[in-house]
Amino acid sequence: MNAPISIIAQADPGAGYRALKPEIDAAVARALNSGWYILGQEGAAFEREYGAWLGEGIRAVGCANGTDAIALILRGMGIGEGATVVTVSHTAVATVAAIEMAGATPLLLDIDPDTYCMDADELAAVLADPPPGIPPIRAVIAVHIYGHPCDLGPMLEACGRAGVPLIEDCAQAHGARLDGAMIGTIGHAAAFSLYPTKNLGALGDGGVLATADLELAERISAIRQYGWRERYVSSLVGVNSRLDEVQAAILRVKLPHLDAGNARRRAIAAAYDSALAGASLIPPARAQGVEHVFHQYVLRSDDRAATMARLKAEGVGTGIHYPVPVHEQSAYAGRVALGPAACAEASRAATEIFSLPMYPELTDAQVEHICLAIEKL
Ligand SMILES: *Cc1c(COP(=O)(O)O)cnc(C)c1O
Repeated sequence: MNAPISIIAQADPGAGYRALKPEIDAAVARALNSGWYILGQEGAAFEREYGAWLGEGIRAVGCANGTDAIALILRGMGIGEGATVVTVSHTAVATVAAIEMAGATPLLLDIDPDTYCMDADELAAVLADPPPGIPPIRAVIAVHIYGHPCDLGPMLEACGRAGVPLIEDCAQAHGARLDGAMIGTIGHAAAFSLYPTKNLGALGDGGVLATADLELAERISAIRQYGWRERYVSSLVGVNSRLDEVQAAILRVKLPHLDAGNARRRAIAAAYDSALAGASLIPPARAQGVEHVFHQYVLRSDDRAATMARLKAEGVGTGIHYPVPVHEQSAYAGRVALGPAACAEASRAATEIFSLPMYPELTDAQVEHICLAIEKL
C-alpha cells in the first residue's frame, strides 16, 4: 500500500491563528478578563481602527456576520418590501439571502466571464429599462468576487443616471483597490464578512460595514441593537446583530497584518501564474487599474473533475467557489427574477471553475510543490 500522501489544504483558518497565537491569546484573555462581552471597548476600538484603515471620513460599524452587514445596510437605507435590489447569481448565496432578509426582491444579473464580476453593460440595460413585473429597483449590490474589484466606473454612472445607490459586497475583497481607491469606499456603503477564511477573518463569526454617510452609520448602529440609540429606548425598528468583544479583540490583532497578508496572496498568485504559462487552464484575469487581493485563485478547466483529481493525487487540495449558482439552487430556482442574459455565463462558469490553495501562511515549499503539480498537468 502506498504511504498516505498529505494534502495541502485549499483553505486553513487555523494557520492564521497559529501565526499570531501569543498575541491572539493575550487579546482573548484581555477581553475575557474585562468582564464586558458585547459592544464594549474592543468593538469600539476595532470600528475606529477598521474605519481608519479604509480611509479618512469612513465610519465602520461591527455586526454579527457579513450577511447581516448587507441586510443592515439595506434596512438602514429603508430598502425592503416593495423594492428590487440588483446583484449577481455568481456569488455566495449570502448576498441574495441578505436581500430577502431585508424584505426586498432580488434581481440576478450575469457576470463578465473574464473577471467573474457583474456585467456592467447588462446592469446599465436593466437600470434604463427594468424587466416587467418586478418592484422598482432601489439599490445595486456589486460583489467583488474572489478579491477582484468590479468595474465600478460604468456601474456608478448607470446607477447615477437611474438615481439608485451602489452598495459594495466586499466580503472577499478587504484591501483591494480600483484605480488606487480602496474598495469599500467607492459605493454608498460597503459590507465585509469577517468569517474565518476571509482575508480578514475572526475566529468565529463577525461582520463590519462601512460608509462615509455618517447619518446612515448612526442609524445602522441603532438598528443592529433593537433600534436603541439609548438603552431600553427603541426609536427605530431593529434587530440583534452585534460583533462580540472577543472577536473584536482578535480582529484588532489581525488587522495590522492584513496588508502584508494580501501582498503574500499576490506573490503566491504570481507564482501560480508562472507555473500555468503554456497550460490549457485559464488563470484569473486582472482588469486594468485593479489591485486584486486573491481571496481565491480561481482557474477554469474544460475537464475540471480530472484536473482536480490529478492535483489531489499530487497532494494539492482544491475547492469550487461555487458549484451551483444561486439561480439554480432549489431555494431560488424558478422563483427569483433574472436579467436579460439569464445568467448564462454564471451557469457555465460554475461547471468549469476551481480554486487552488490560497492563504498567506502557505510556505514557500508548499507553493513550490503546488507549482510543480500544476506544471505536470
Ligand atoms: C462570505 C460572504 C458573505 C457572507 O458573509 P458571512 O459572514 O458568512 O455571513 C457575503 N457575500 C460574499 C461574497 C461572501 O463571500
